[in-house]
Amino acid sequence: MRSVTLPAGLDAAVECAVVFPGQPGYETLRRVWNADIDQYPAAIVRCRNAADAAAALKWCVGNKVSITVRGGGHNLAGTSVADGSVLIDMGLMREVKVDTARRLLTVGGGCRWGDVDRAAEPYGVALPAGVVSHTGVAGLTLGGGVGYLSRMFGATVEFLQEVELVTADGAIRGVSAQSDPDLFWALKGAGHNFGIATSFVFRYVDLPGLATVRLALFGAADRRELLRRFRELGPGMPDNVGTYVRLYRCPEYWSQVPRAHRGKPIISVATVTYGDPAAEPALSAPMFEGYTPIYQAVRSMPHVTLQHATDDEFRYGISHYWRHVAFRELPDELIDIAIEHADAYPGRSLNSSAFIAHQVMCPFELIAGKLTPRDHRNDSTSGIHSRWGGNIGADWEYPDERPELVAWVKRFGAAVAPWENGTYINFTSEHHDSASAREVYGPKYDRLAALKAKYDPGNVFAHGLVALETAPAGSDWAGK
Ligand SMILES: Cc1cc2nc3c(=O)[nH]c(=O)nc-3n(C[C@H](O)[C@H](O)[C@H](O)COP(=O)(O)OP(=O)(O)OC[C@H]3O[C@@H](n4cnc5c(N)ncnc54)[C@H](O)[C@@H]3O)c2cc1C
Repeated sequence: MRSVTLPAGLDAAVECAVVFPGQPGYETLRRVWNADIDQYPAAIVRCRNAADAAAALKWCVGNKVSITVRGGGHNLAGTSVADGSVLIDMGLMREVKVDTARRLLTVGGGCRWGDVDRAAEPYGVALPAGVVSHTGVAGLTLGGGVGYLSRMFGATVEFLQEVELVTADGAIRGVSAQSDPDLFWALKGAGHNFGIATSFVFRYVDLPGLATVRLALFGAADRRELLRRFRELGPGMPDNVGTYVRLYRCPEYWSQVPRAHRGKPIISVATVTYGDPAAEPALSAPMFEGYTPIYQAVRSMPHVTLQHATDDEFRYGISHYWRHVAFRELPDELIDIAIEHADAYPGRSLNSSAFIAHQVMCPFELIAGKLTPRDHRNDSTSGIHSRWGGNIGADWEYPDERPELVAWVKRFGAAVAPWENGTYINFTSEHHDSASAREVYGPKYDRLAALKAKYDPGNVFAHGLVALETAPAGSDWAGK
């Protein structure tokens, strides 16, 4: 364990439990989803409410101790935990209230999406959001939030009505478009930089029927043509049909796949279609017809089942380095580069052996955006509005696999950079400094930096995913 020094008195300053290094639970509580992150916080404050978070924050600011904030702990870059910082943990705040009269969901700052989906489902409603049930609501929402329902209804931030926020001065505020339009705008995309969100109020939508997942795997020879088809058709598919393609090596143990393809490069094409399952074949057909799959599965299921369907694929305990790249175009040259780099993946297939899921851990994934993206001037999101979103991902179990895999992600990222149209900060292992933050947020950057200087001049929230410039004059304790 690395040594940490913390002034005495944190546990007396808050009414909730505080876990220090060496105490029972510390080892488990310091961990996050990405096993590559191995940080030792100086203490973990287990908040039960906004008052606990405010008390912890004030003590840290007063004692010049840096902080991190954790929602679900799923962030790739591991920005919710840092050596020697106090971790302000929302993990116990997992209540969801459904207000059917006002069609609102109130969601605790430590909720996972599974908490929300399971609470909403009995009412026949849902919130468009992330696709793995153990992902945290807070981090995802504060960065934008996209999922299976987003194509039809929009990003998670488009449903946000109000945030209960502890700001850098320790105040607890209800922040909405009416109360603080600028700060509310900043929370919807760059929110990790502005405070501790202790609860969220969202509008919800009526569930649009069952989800039908059509998954087909094809051999290596079909990859180029299928990627071209995805390029031509994916963004223009009906709003209730999302398309996902992935390049990877078929695990040796997928015995449902013909032997000749096991251990070899394949492409998976999956559509997720909401509505009447009887209408699905005609809607999704254009994406598949003319090619012979080596494996195919079609399943209709309730949305809440779909939301949990790949939890085991993205299980805890594995290390990851991912880089998200939004693309403005997908020319043939880029398709060839993607195939070449996916084939050169130096890692192993770490997918579940139980069944072939429509989502797997894979070196390269492309998701079709919309032909006509929504207007996103009303939020501070970046990187989620392109026609194609790409995820370059390396996953491993043993530390000595890391260097080669991280180098591979960086090589792949550099090779596709000429076509890059931004990045989605929630989906990247790279923690951006203020120079690259300017690129990430583009024309939204200056407004964000001005708001950062107003609401967090001392850079208390220095561990956001993207470092905004601040005016730290007079502050001798800005976060590390
Ligand atoms: C398996 C997997 C699936 C995913 N699927 C999707 C998906 O479908 N759609 C999508 O949009 N994204 C998805 N993501 C990305 C996800 O949005 C980010 O990883 C997000 O950061 C997770 O939020 P969290 O609360 O779990 O993270 P954390 O690691 O807890 O936090 C992430 C960042 O947010 C800050 N933060 C956390 N909670 C709070 C709070 N209460 N107040 C203020 N700041 C806070 C942290 O300090 C940190 O900087 C996925 C990630 C994984 C690993």
